[in-house]
Amino acid sequence: MEYTEIIEMITQFRDSRGWAKYHNLKDLAISVSLEASEVLEIFQWKDSKEELSEEEEAKLKEEIADTLIYLLYMVDKLKMNPYEEIQKKIEINKNRHWKEDS
Ligand SMILES: [Mg+2]
Repeated sequence: MEYTEIIEMITQFRDSRGWAKYHNLKDLAISVSLEASEVLEIFQWKDSKEELSEEEEAKLKEEIADTLIYLLYMVDKLKMNPYEEIQKKIEINKNRHWKEDS
């Protein structure tokens, strides 16, 4: 599935539920953070080396998808090209973070 098809799929879903009126940038940003917290919740109280169960891994993927969906709603609202922005940010990061000696 192409990026534009994904945007179309999620915006069609949003519109079919009448949710567009709630999708302002502030509330979308809150939703990104809440869904990202659900990603984190899966690891709560676990030992750092502990493996996830199959069920937990499935839940993790679901919460990552929820987070990405809200980010994509923001991307769409801002009419930004996420690939260009990622490339720009990686360039900034290259200058900001020096490579560690290995
Ligand atoms: Mg969720």
